[in-house]
Amino acid sequence: MNRARLLVFNAALGPLDYRVPDGMAVEPGSLVIAPLGPRQILGLVWEPERLPASEVPDARLRPLLEVLPVPPLQAPLRRLIEWTADYYCAPVAAVARMALGSSAALRGGGTTTEYRLTGERPARLTPQRAVALEKLHGEQATIRELAAIAGVSEGVLRGMAGAGLLEPVTIDLDRPYPRARPDFAVPELSSAQRAAAETFVAATKAGGFAPVLLDGVTGSGKTECYFEAIAAALAKGTQVLVLLPEIALTQNFLRRFEQRFGAPPVLWHSSLKSAERRRAWRAIVSGDAQVVVGARSALFMPFARLGLIVVDEAHEVSFKQDDGVRYNARDVAVIRARFEAVPVILASATPALESMQLADAGIYTRVELPDRFGGAQLPAIELIDLRAEPPDRGRWLAPRLVAEMRERLAHGEQSLLFLNRRGYAPLTLCRNCGYRFQCPNCTAWLVEHRLSRRLACHHCGHQVAQPEACPECGTPECLVACGPGVERIADEVAELLPEARLAVVTSDTLNTPERIAEFVAAAEEKLIDVIVGTQLVTKGYHFPELTLVGVVDADLGLEGGDLRAGERTYQQIAQVAGRAGRGEKPGEVLIQTRHPEAAVIAALAAGDRDAFYAAETEARREAGAPPFGRWAAIIVSSEDEAEARDAARAIGGSRPSLPDVAIYGPAPAPMALLRGRHRFRLLINARRSAQLQDVIREWLGALRFPPGVRIAIDIDPYSFV
Ligand code: ADP
Ligand code: ZN
Repeated sequence: MNRARLLVFNAALGPLDYRVPDGMAVEPGSLVIAPLGPRQILGLVWEPERLPASEVPDARLRPLLEVLPVPPLQAPLRRLIEWTADYYCAPVAAVARMALGSSAALRGGGTTTEYRLTGERPARLTPQRAVALEKLHGEQATIRELAAIAGVSEGVLRGMAGAGLLEPVTIDLDRPYPRARPDFAVPELSSAQRAAAETFVAATKAGGFAPVLLDGVTGSGKTECYFEAIAAALAKGTQVLVLLPEIALTQNFLRRFEQRFGAPPVLWHSSLKSAERRRAWRAIVSGDAQVVVGARSALFMPFARLGLIVVDEAHEVSFKQDDGVRYNARDVAVIRARFEAVPVILASATPALESMQLADAGIYTRVELPDRFGGAQLPAIELIDLRAEPPDRGRWLAPRLVAEMRERLAHGEQSLLFLNRRGYAPLTLCRNCGYRFQCPNCTAWLVEHRLSRRLACHHCGHQVAQPEACPECGTPECLVACGPGVERIADEVAELLPEARLAVVTSDTLNTPERIAEFVAAAEEKLIDVIVGTQLVTKGYHFPELTLVGVVDADLGLEGGDLRAGERTYQQIAQVAGRAGRGEKPGEVLIQTRHPEAAVIAALAAGDRDAFYAAETEARREAGAPPFGRWAAIIVSSEDEAEARDAARAIGGSRPSLPDVAIYGPAPAPMALLRGRHRFRLLINARRSAQLQDVIREWLGALRFPPGVRIAIDIDPYSFV
């Protein structure tokens, strides 16, 4: 009797057993279709002994229906999926799902139909057709995707196809990608770069697990160096995975990659069009995709022959996923490299303390690039103590910063102002009655967005039109904006330097690859004098004419912060400072602060990275925080506040008492209400010796909760709200 045990992708179901009919061949990793009641479901064949056993006798098993025509997921990936599920206390199936891409891709190759404009333009057009003709220029996609791009209905587009304005194009789903060539444009490396590159190349050629921390200052040519490792992997015929923290950074990366290798890499991210998604996934699993670049979701892709993993800007907090499976892609990338027996390069100018510690301990090989490439100097950093040099009334920029910007403008150089706050103002209140605009679904103020004339919640997306009068007391024109966001800073710059050409860079304005490319081109062609941006502009960009960086509020990240606030602030400001003076002209950085004495700010001003890491390390050691101790959070939520509180109390009441584990809470979360759910948190602090996950599983596994209660476990949390 041939039994198969399947992981199925339905949260309510555990593994299920089926009969493998005669003549059907399955192995662990095979993707299959199985009957479930009247339906058909997708299943992933797994080693039966590695999953909980089923009680169903052989005679009652239903037969599998079909094996899907894709290669089985390989053993190293299956072990990674199990490891991730175990470490982060997540269901195995929820992790496995991240390896699958789209269900359409599993159905084999073939063709699909996309549409594009024929170029015909009748004299008379309905307004909607006119809009579509304009918006769809240069686009090719399915009718549904085109409808989204053009903002018209699918019916309008079908009508246009019937009228000969759109034409169908048959797409081969498995058409090959252009080949990247390892020797297309080999750079001349400096001697420090060559030494770094040789380490990577040797490790890549040799194969085997080899974790490397590439610790190089901004502008040192880290990308250039790990490109040599990629070249070695390509020459060997193996695939490469490059993880970037944000999709916004890929545009820049794509261009440099193409210059170096003569063809673009394969992109993987959540907003790919369906045909691209299918094509990319199928090329990854077949081995045809040579280099795959993506955000954290690319980590679980089923590579046929993985030979190297690179995590760029490895310190970035956005590698931590904070919903669904709460994993840290940087850490799991290292584990994947271990299972796959390949090198992994973590590149950063400001490595996470955890990574530094592992390099200090000799577990990671440390490769350093202490100098900028081509003799460029790191920028000079100065503080502006806002208590001694306050901005004028109603303004946010100190006179010295404005004077420096004016000077740059006169010399045709660029300035960048950094403030990590989208919108115009973080709080709006009524001057008359004191009413504050708050989100009905979240513990958060509504943020004014003056460009779109709305107040918006940055947590749940709730929006209202900018009101004329106070909704509480009815007084007209009494609403005041409190505090600055980037839009307000941009307004201030426009008033002070009316001739400056401004760009506001946030996820509101730079939300498509095209807009990002436009911005980068404009900045490079010197069509922009002043950039005002959020953390989106702090990393990756290389604008040679940018010589001044102003940090509008260095204290923002330190307020009410958790234990990582200092590190995060340091990284963010060091990264944005790294945008200045990358070309021939020297750069300058002015940091506005009310706390010049704070350890982080003082270390930044002194350019003393070692002092910062030393102080931070001591603070963490004393607090038993990572990497010296371990943290986990339990977040209890429900739409019903009493229900959430009762569940949190039940968890707190049954806490285990162990010598190496301390448990704090439950307490209302700082975000006590989020997207309409009431939230309570417990924080667990454990010594490294404790079996943290086992403790949590045993503790929570014994409890039962009403169906409206959600319990999230966050291992190694980054967010404490
Ligand atoms: P990092 O990632 O360390 O900040 P980059 O790799 O972006 O540094 O390099 C900074 C700039 O210097 C880029 O424009 C890059 O093309 C250039 N550069 C670095 N190394 C070389 C090299 N060996 N030859 C030519 N240009 C280089
Ligand atoms: Zn909200």
